[in-house]
Amino acid sequence: MPNRPIRREKLYINGEWIKASEYSNLLSPYDQELLAEIPLASVTEVTKAIEAAHGSREILRKMPAHERGAILERIANLIEEKFEVAAKIIALEAAKPIKTARLEVQRTIQTYKFAAEEAKRIHGETIPIDAAPGGENKIAFTIREPIGVVAAITPFNFPMNLVAHKVGPAIAVGNPVVLKPASQTPLSSFFLAQICEHAGLPNGGLNIVTGKGSTVGDVLVKSDLVKKITFTGSPAVGRSIRDKAGLKKVTLELGSNSAVILDKNVPLDKIIPRCVMGAFSYQGQVCISLQRIYVHEEVYEKFVDLFITETKKLKIGNPLNEDTDLSALISPDEITRVQALIHESVEQGATVALGGDNEDTILKPTILLNVPNTSRVSCQEVFAPVVVINKIASMEEAYRLVNESEFGLQAGIYTESIHTALNAAEQLHVGGVIINDIPTFRVDHMPYGGVKNSGMGREGVKYAIEEMTEMKLVVFNRD
Ligand code: NAP
Repeated sequence: MPNRPIRREKLYINGEWIKASEYSNLLSPYDQELLAEIPLASVTEVTKAIEAAHGSREILRKMPAHERGAILERIANLIEEKFEVAAKIIALEAAKPIKTARLEVQRTIQTYKFAAEEAKRIHGETIPIDAAPGGENKIAFTIREPIGVVAAITPFNFPMNLVAHKVGPAIAVGNPVVLKPASQTPLSSFFLAQICEHAGLPNGGLNIVTGKGSTVGDVLVKSDLVKKITFTGSPAVGRSIRDKAGLKKVTLELGSNSAVILDKNVPLDKIIPRCVMGAFSYQGQVCISLQRIYVHEEVYEKFVDLFITETKKLKIGNPLNEDTDLSALISPDEITRVQALIHESVEQGATVALGGDNEDTILKPTILLNVPNTSRVSCQEVFAPVVVINKIASMEEAYRLVNESEFGLQAGIYTESIHTALNAAEQLHVGGVIINDIPTFRVDHMPYGGVKNSGMGREGVKYAIEEMTEMKLVVFNRD
């Protein structure tokens, strides 16, 4: 039993902290310790949150850009002041190793800073309206207006920064938000609500409703007052949201089985640590986690040997330990699911070069060789510390294998040839091609999003802002 009082969290609606009638226990993924009691919002409470957001939209809409920017700057500064508190929240609720959790907090601060800057440059364009007969003596321009209430539904794996990718752009634009964080990682969102209160965000500008995805999510997705849904999570839930959303604008940031290609003659010593990081960072529970590695046959054996050696250096353990590289999966059930996928691939001809077994809630870093591309561990999103390393004879074969996927978020290629690099950029069917780095590369202002079943729309603050605004045309007749 924990030796500290267990906190009963509250819903955050219209600037007030509200008790719920039902609660669920939030357990640590690492040791199942009780972390907090989390309110389960009812349909009535979610509806109140949407109405509160709707009620605040005129205040936010009329707020000048410099004030919206200043609120976002204050949010960034307040998170910076509470840096260690923030990192510990992520480490506890998500079992994210503290070193990695700190990186997430750093990125969260960056994201709000980018949002503060972007708030001041939301603009339209002038249209040469006299380019068409009938357009003489007229002036035309566009403006970008806030779309209205944004429903943000977020996953467990980056509970602070992926929330920032929705809340930051929404505030930058002047849109109120109703946020539904993942049930396993609500504490990061309650932390954010406290920060927003202190930063001076008007009541109703951010509302937080926790509870079951199906209950809370459904009310948000179907409400006529919600004008935009921004969802990050699994393809199955994303698809069901799209089906129910009607004519609302929807952004979907979904999963993938990201790949990197290694050409011959590449500097393996430099590349291996990056690939190990890409495959096993946060236990592989990253949407652009490196799941498939296609290595040219000339360097394959050497790459596999070095990769195994480097992976063996990873330390597994408690997420709060300073030297932990890899900790528990998000729930104990995940071990069973992923081990079944590993066993299935072995039956289909794969070899386990390392790992496959677990230590309590931790699945050890797992390396699989010679995996058929049709095996689920290769063609589906595994979302665990499992990487497939396969041999290729040519770059064309690699492009075909990478593209033989229902997903397309990002792909990486290491090559010393400019021609190969440009060919890869052209031929890989993904949202982002990363040349001479892993597909796991992301900074928070770049356009980010997928093709195929990896989603629709783009995030990266400026691009999310485009998706959270509506273009209005103004035509001025001078006659
Ligand atoms: P998830 O199970 O799809 O959950 C995501 C969010 O959706 C949670 O808040 C969840 O609530 C909610 N939800 C569940 N059922 C719902 C429903 N019927 N209607 C509305 N909302 C519902 O995903 P996850 O396991 O948290 O996250 C992992 C997935 O996210 C992976 O597939 C990963 O690739 C993807 N991801 C993508 C990106 C990207 O940028 N492309 C980034 C990170 C993660 P509950 O928690 O209460 O179920």
